[in-house]
Amino acid sequence: MGEIEREGNRLLEDVKRWGQWVLEEAKREIGRFYPPDPDGSIPVGYIWARTVRCQNPGCMAEIPLTLSLLPEMGEPDSRQFLEGSARVALQIDPPFDRYIFIENKLSRCAELESLKNEFPKLSSRISIENNEANLYLHDLCYNKNWKRYWKNKGWSDMALYTQIEWSEVSWNPLTGCTKISAGCKNCYAERMARRLQAMGNSRYSNGFKLTTHEYLLEEPLKLKKPHIIFVNSMSDLFHKDVPVGFIQKVFAIMEKAYWHQFQILTKRSRRMLELNNVLSWPDNVWMGVTVENSDYYQRIDNLRQTGAKLKFISFEPLLGPCPDINLEGIHWVIVGGESGPGCRPVRKDWIIEIRDQCLVHNIPFFFKQWGGTNRKKAGRLLEGKKWDAMPVLSH
Ligand code: SF4
Repeated sequence: MGEIEREGNRLLEDVKRWGQWVLEEAKREIGRFYPPDPDGSIPVGYIWARTVRCQNPGCMAEIPLTLSLLPEMGEPDSRQFLEGSARVALQIDPPFDRYIFIENKLSRCAELESLKNEFPKLSSRISIENNEANLYLHDLCYNKNWKRYWKNKGWSDMALYTQIEWSEVSWNPLTGCTKISAGCKNCYAERMARRLQAMGNSRYSNGFKLTTHEYLLEEPLKLKKPHIIFVNSMSDLFHKDVPVGFIQKVFAIMEKAYWHQFQILTKRSRRMLELNNVLSWPDNVWMGVTVENSDYYQRIDNLRQTGAKLKFISFEPLLGPCPDINLEGIHWVIVGGESGPGCRPVRKDWIIEIRDQCLVHNIPFFFKQWGGTNRKKAGRLLEGKKWDAMPVLSH
């Protein structure tokens, strides 16, 4: 008996060992195609299908009906959406690259509720019960009145969806990038690009490879109401492979769309400075550099030498202390901790140290977030208050 148990244990150990080996090999070979979700779980595929509840009261699982996919859809803004999925990506604004990812779970109903509030005309007719997320999304995307409502209002009213707290809209005529410094380790843009590629989004068919999208260049001109527009949240405009002509076109559009404020953030400050003389630097362009810790102070010096009228620093993700910053000529400072899978912790004394330097030099200070794996829960209060200061806008 003792022999059998020993043999049995050996078999179990072997299975475990080889199972682990297979897992590690798979991660090494194809892991990059399966970026982890914010909660750390790794989705291995996306199924878009209508679902029904299992009638067994002890089960009640949602079962996908894979043959009942929706028919061909004509509206470009709803093409990304297929109902009844475990996760839906609703592309709400094609030109400005805004998406809502909603997991069809009870815990996501709060998000659906807030979505509902953005569509006041719908909210009077639709009430969301906890288990009616599918129905709600279906109505939202296919209801004729909603389409008319959408069209009449124009997408300028949909600006609330950007993930960036200090901006309103993202404009991405460029997507994809390569890593250049410590702050890039858990790049959000990379995760997002791979996810959208996996979901079949044509704009991300190259995944995270640097790609220019000329057809999006003129989008800000169509947005008639003044907005704060973040330029290239999915890339870095001064990446070495972006042609100078393309960067100049981006600047020309920003100059033409004078009623908006444009925010650009780069880690490639040297190239930005190299191109300084061939860029027009209109008044409505805010130019920023990312500084993760004191190793990257050179970027601030580079920024200072450009012709940008409004210069800012983003200490995000803040990865170390930043004493004795030269803030001369700097108009705005943002600080944030890292969030998402694998995030590195930020320390309160690092944040306070930067804030106090801003207070001494009378520079607007914006504390974006503590970060962590649950960004929303960690919040953005510092010593009990929000720090939301921004430079004064000219419009
Ligand atoms: S520079 Fe920005 S977009 Fe590019 S890899 Fe680094 S974090 Fe990502």
